[in-house]
Amino acid sequence: TSRATGRGTWSIYHPEMSQVAAYRHWIEAELGGALQRDELMLHYQPKVHAVTGETVGYEALLRWNHHQNGSIPPSEFIPIAEQCGLIQQIGDFVLRRVCEDLEQLPDNISVSANVSPAQFNRDDFVANLGRLINGTEIRPDRLEIEVTETLLIRNHSEVRRLLAQLRELGILLAIDDFGTGYSNLSTLNELRFNTLKIDKSFVDRLTDKDPAASTMVASIVGMARSMGASVVAEGVETQEQATLLRAAGCTIMQGYLFGKPQPLSAIKHHHRDSEAGPAGALPAVPQPE
Ligand code: C2E
Ligand code: MG
Ligand code: MG
Ligand code: MG
Repeated sequence: TSRATGRGTWSIYHPEMSQVAAYRHWIEAELGGALQRDELMLHYQPKVHAVTGETVGYEALLRWNHHQNGSIPPSEFIPIAEQCGLIQQIGDFVLRRVCEDLEQLPDNISVSANVSPAQFNRDDFVANLGRLINGTEIRPDRLEIEVTETLLIRNHSEVRRLLAQLRELGILLAIDDFGTGYSNLSTLNELRFNTLKIDKSFVDRLTDKDPAASTMVASIVGMARSMGASVVAEGVETQEQATLLRAAGCTIMQGYLFGKPQPLSAIKHHHRDSEAGPAGALPAVPQPE
């Protein structure tokens, strides 16, 4: 046959490459088509208030369902997209879709989108995002951009300028996977992030048997507070972790304990149910256009 049909077969077609290199090559070749074939979609994972349990927002997470090979995780294709430049198109798709989807969610619900450092390489990134958000009816502060600490190791004045422009648009800024990378405290303070997302690796360590882990989380919370940022804990899987996070002062949690990433239709359904109002209430009167 002339085409690859399974992930284990690439080396037949590219005998000069290692398995890993061949797989990368395959991803790169298929990823452009994925956009055209409409194989990419967003799933939304809830962020929940630590005390009230209310859903305050969602994180948009990209999913790729390949027509032959099924689901391919973002941890595999995002780094390749970043290297081959396709992250620009993919990132545009994500931000456009998030804005469209925000229009279908209640006004008090925000959504965060992951943005790769490479997306900031384009001069018109902020201008495009501004056009996108201003072309909708949604308040800009319902959109949050998640960036990792790797962005901060770049040219400081350039990063500072970029983030200031985003803030001017009214979009919120989160630092993702916090604690795993290089962060200069004064830089962090200066860049005025709205949200600090504590990496799952810290949450994983939270048990009664590791009080040092709790102390660590409490100090991150304290630091965020002094910066005027809110804290989201990532990857919360157990009640014990949730209890220790609450005790450490963490106000928002995200993880399988509260909900897995789900398609928009599923989360919309959830909001319809919870907004049904008191029994016997009349349905809202549709407004004329
Ligand atoms: P991230 O932004 O740190 O997202 C959190 C990851 O942890 C997601 O994996 C999520 O599904 C997973 N997760 C959430 N709760 C739990 C939990 O309780 N237990 C465990 N074991 N995992 C949990 P996912 O969706 O596979 O995404 C992986 C990474 O890929 C993301 O890490 C992000 O860096 C990147 N990514 C995903 N979507 C996009 C996107 O649209 N654009 C860009 N540039 N990167 C994306
Ligand atoms: Mg994220
Ligand atoms: Mg994260
Ligand atoms: Mg993470």
